[in-house]
Amino acid sequence: MNAPAPSSAAPPDAPPDAPPDAPPAATPAATPGLPPLTVLLAGPRGFCAGVDRAIKIVEEALKRFGAPVYVRHEIVHNRFVVETLEAKGAVFVEDLDQVPAGVPVVFSAHGVPKAVPAEAERRKLFYLDATCPLVSKVHREAERHFARGRHIILIGHAGHPEVVGTMGQLPRGAVTLVEDVEQARSVAVPDPANLAFATQTTLSVDDTAEIVAVLRARFPAMEAPRKEDICYATTNRQAAVKAIAPRAEAFLVIGAPKSSNSRRLVEVAERAGCARAEMVQRAAALDLDRLAGVRRLGLTAGASAPEVLVEEVLARLCTRFAVTVEEVVVATEDVTFKLPAALAAAGTPAPAAEG
Ligand code: SF4
Repeated sequence: MNAPAPSSAAPPDAPPDAPPDAPPAATPAATPGLPPLTVLLAGPRGFCAGVDRAIKIVEEALKRFGAPVYVRHEIVHNRFVVETLEAKGAVFVEDLDQVPAGVPVVFSAHGVPKAVPAEAERRKLFYLDATCPLVSKVHREAERHFARGRHIILIGHAGHPEVVGTMGQLPRGAVTLVEDVEQARSVAVPDPANLAFATQTTLSVDDTAEIVAVLRARFPAMEAPRKEDICYATTNRQAAVKAIAPRAEAFLVIGAPKSSNSRRLVEVAERAGCARAEMVQRAAALDLDRLAGVRRLGLTAGASAPEVLVEEVLARLCTRFAVTVEEVVVATEDVTFKLPAALAAAGTPAPAAEG
């Protein structure tokens, strides 16, 4: 097997924020008998700060309180992550009704409607909220608009837990969901002069800009978020894919079908010029025959996919190709989020049984 030699090199068309001191790409390793394959590895890729924090919350809760720790909904949309936490004693459920008294429960990174913590409090459950702070920011902003009498248009995908959570911050009827340009053209609002918009954090940057442009043309007084709702991690991962896609003959996005940000990365790769973009969950699911003849392969991972899955895919590629890895870095990230106070504080008492 020809081991990959990760390297870091900005492409000629990299955005200006690419690190200037990136080392040159690795020299292709010659393995007799195996066809050469250059893997253009996206940077940044994989875990974002919100996912990292959510997983740490479950791990820390397991350490502090022991198993089981219940988690409402998949903590992040990735089977590997969920199964790893299950092996440590986490129990994933879809509803609070399934959480017994006396055990801690964690709310997922996607956020929850207000009714969920309210119900946990009514039942005196000990809960930890792993909602990403960047999702919470959208919640607070929606509340601020509502308090000022504005109707809110939420741009997002119906049924995604983040959208359910954001809409659930406000009374029924206060938020109207718009999923695409078509809906932006036809949406009816109670008062166009009192309107604001918010977005899901993991949308396509380009699609969202198009939807916002249509809404702005129709509702010029519409208030915008103070700071972009689409998060830094989504934006950076899409930018890296855009930088690679025109150079790649095929593109693999490691992620889960339920993961919104991963699905968007596939779409971004296709639109940026790589017609053969697809999602793969694990190395074992990779159809190497389909890559026959490919010389340059784009590779990234969604924000909920750990780096170990990237390494696994690279190792599998090495069974069929003489792989050279060229890392295409468009931004560096140093965002971290604190754990909730209940975990940060030493000596948090174990949850008491429901009274
Ligand atoms: S993708 Fe963005 S909003 Fe979602 S968890 Fe990661 S940092 Fe937070």
